[in-house]
Amino acid sequence: MGGTDRTGLRSRHSTHTQRGPTRTCVGCRGTDSWSGLLRVVAVEGEHGFVLTPDPRHRLPGRGAWLHPSRSCLDLALRRRAFPRALRVTAAVDSAVLVEYLGAMTEVESETETESGFDADEHPMSTQR
Ligand SMILES: [Zn+2]
Repeated sequence: MGGTDRTGLRSRHSTHTQRGPTRTCVGCRGTDSWSGLLRVVAVEGEHGFVLTPDPRHRLPGRGAWLHPSRSCLDLALRRRAFPRALRVTAAVDSAVLVEYLGAMTEVESETETESGFDADEHPMSTQR
């Protein structure tokens, strides 16, 4: 055996960092790699524009970038940063985005569901 020295691979990655282009978070205004930020677009709906999370970067149009955290979302909403970043003059609905980030941060509380049920599995069983 022998010849498994991989030092030659190092120089290849020196110029191309994995960070890629940086984007500015519309909440805290900090810069981060685009892979660490959530892309948000305004999708036109019946009652105006709806802020829609676009984690796969597939939706067309202008995108705003946000750290996927409630604190950055609150900052962005307070500053009305989304309409400005997305060039939308009408009001934007943030309910979908709030719910999206809420679901992401509430994952921990879901561990409370323990297997403490010794009754039968049908909650409607009292109906007769
Ligand atoms: Zn941020």
